[in-house]
Amino acid sequence: MCKLPFEKNIFWEQSTHFDHLNCNEKDHDPANIGIVHIECNYIKKWYGEYQVRAMDWHRYLVSKITSSLSASEKNTYTKTNTQTDELTDGQINLIINKLTKSQLEIELPEDSTKQIPFPVMLSDIHYLTIQETGGRGSELSVRRALNGMTKSQFSPWQQKKLGKGNIIIQRRAKIQVEKKLPELQIERDVWPE
Ligand SMILES: [Zn+2]
Repeated sequence: MCKLPFEKNIFWEQSTHFDHLNCNEKDHDPANIGIVHIECNYIKKWYGEYQVRAMDWHRYLVSKITSSLSASEKNTYTKTNTQTDELTDGQINLIINKLTKSQLEIELPEDSTKQIPFPVMLSDIHYLTIQETGGRGSELSVRRALNGMTKSQFSPWQQKKLGKGNIIIQRRAKIQVEKKLPELQIERDVWPE
């Protein structure tokens, strides 16, 4: 959007957002999803120039994706969409729960000391849900699932509020020992002043 590159010195997933290029938050077509700077995503809400650039990009992606699909692939694509339309709310919730758990296991395996911002985890799982369900499953449902799997004392993962009120998700320590120093180190890396 701003034509500047993505920063290489910080985790790219913490400086980027998935943007609905045509401003329709319910249109989860792959051609409508773009990766943009977090700041650019916010600015786009009121800056017409960025909205125009996003629409140009959207049209480009639509043409690319349509031309790359062969006739048989198009059939599969339609078929998949029909199937996902038939998913019940219960099935969608099951998909969300499974994706949430597997994503937590992948990102924060046992003995991991990583801390992942809650919004990052949320948008990743929401994106995976959309891919799996053909656009169904709200962000609120994903938020509920993520809270459900990180707020219980029996869960292997937990939420933690950092200095500026940002919530992160981390692996729950098995024994609450003095681990304060390395944690502070990570905190500083993730949320630079
Ligand atoms: Zn930008």
